[in-house]
Amino acid sequence: MNKSFSIRPMRCDDAGIGPVPHVRIVGGLSECPGCGLYQRLPELAPGQQALCTRCGQKLARRRRTAPLATPLAFCISSAAFYLAALASSLMTLDVYGRQRTVDLLTGPMELMHEGWGEAGILVGAVTVLAPAVAIGFMFAILYAASRPQLPDWGPRILVWYDKLRPWSMVEVYILGIFVAYTKLTDMAHVDVGPAVYLIGALMLTMAATDSTLDTEMIWQHRRIDSLTRAESGGRVVVDYAHVDDIGMPPVDHLVACSSCGLVGELAHPVSNLRCVGLCPRCEHKVWRRLPQTLTRTTAFLIAAVVFYIPANLYPVMTFTRMGGGGGHTIIEGALELWADGMIPLALLVFFASITVPMLKIASLGWMIIQTWRGARGHLVARTRLFRVVDMVGRWSMIDVFMISILVAVVRFNFMASVTANAGMVAFAAVVILTLLAAWSFDPRIMWDAAGRNGPVTDGLPPGVVAAVDHDGPASSLSPAETRPASMEPDLA
Ligand SMILES: [Zn+2]
Ligand SMILES: [Zn+2]
Repeated sequence: MNKSFSIRPMRCDDAGIGPVPHVRIVGGLSECPGCGLYQRLPELAPGQQALCTRCGQKLARRRRTAPLATPLAFCISSAAFYLAALASSLMTLDVYGRQRTVDLLTGPMELMHEGWGEAGILVGAVTVLAPAVAIGFMFAILYAASRPQLPDWGPRILVWYDKLRPWSMVEVYILGIFVAYTKLTDMAHVDVGPAVYLIGALMLTMAATDSTLDTEMIWQHRRIDSLTRAESGGRVVVDYAHVDDIGMPPVDHLVACSSCGLVGELAHPVSNLRCVGLCPRCEHKVWRRLPQTLTRTTAFLIAAVVFYIPANLYPVMTFTRMGGGGGHTIIEGALELWADGMIPLALLVFFASITVPMLKIASLGWMIIQTWRGARGHLVARTRLFRVVDMVGRWSMIDVFMISILVAVVRFNFMASVTANAGMVAFAAVVILTLLAAWSFDPRIMWDAAGRNGPVTDGLPPGVVAAVDHDGPASSLSPAETRPASMEPDLA
């Protein structure tokens, strides 16, 4: 991290009114979002990345490309591809001379007409609305970053972009189109419209924008206010020191902002149960850990398990052809592809729709139970597994997208028609609930519960507190925290 933090000077009327609580911003220090280890962040050269010494999570990376011009070029291309995709046709189906052409919006609309409003809104939100908002936010971020000083609204947009970006599922939609296309070529003549290629291009340019944008560099150009607010509304004075000058502060006094990564040292141990106050750089509420992470994850996971049963037992869609046909469950859909000889595609659908939801439910369940028990084994493996679960979760939407396309395009009454069924809504609910479960889980608490993050244990299950007390806080501090994060070439 850069040593040259700019701190806005304190105003005259702020000074000299009794003792005010204070926080010291510690430069050059970073908390690993995967395991909660505080470590020195070395100065990175372009093309290098810093990894956590304990769990291997990426902490920072420096891009080789121009920090603003490159993401801007990709962002402009994304906007162009998006608008063109919205205006062009997705595919045309020809059944015995009768044609039907659909575009991006037809799927969500048809689902709504059929009475599956929630599913229609969901598909529309993640394939049409979210990409548009993400592109708009990215333009705003790049404009804000191009200013000499990041404007006050800049941090809010950056935080919101991070929250919204996973909801834009263009890359999953492309696979949904591909599976729908494969199913359709079986029964009729299909013409792929220009929107398919445009969405493919949009997927690449949006990924390229994200991978070339250096958010850490943008945060470094944001000043740190010399005063901030505590949760109670009281003032907190902010000062700054670099870790190289003051040495490693006591780990239980440290807290990091989950939005911008700024690390602060307080005069007292930081509780897990209370919000520390507002971040003096991004004004986001700062908690040592995500509030009530175990309870929230458990609640979302139980809800997902409840929906999992109807999602697999009930048909997700009904395919009628010449008056015949019937409902298909998720598993039947994958088996049908297999029977038709489309083995790679069958495996893909099987993996995305059956393996991924099961993997997510089982792994998050395992992580929750191990945390409740204060288990100390497999911490690195559990943290890596969490990263995988977090990454693959969105791909389960393939089947929902495929159904939305089939419902839109196969509408030839008696000759051929596809309708959505209740199983699809339950399945979409499983996907969304497991996504929410993963996003509300804070993997750092697995390390807290194992007594590896210092003496702060409030808010953890009672058994865990006993386990840490037994060993004493001193032995639970990891020796790795005195070492800097490891550097590696960034190959991505
Ligand atoms: Zn780590
Ligand atoms: Zn912050």
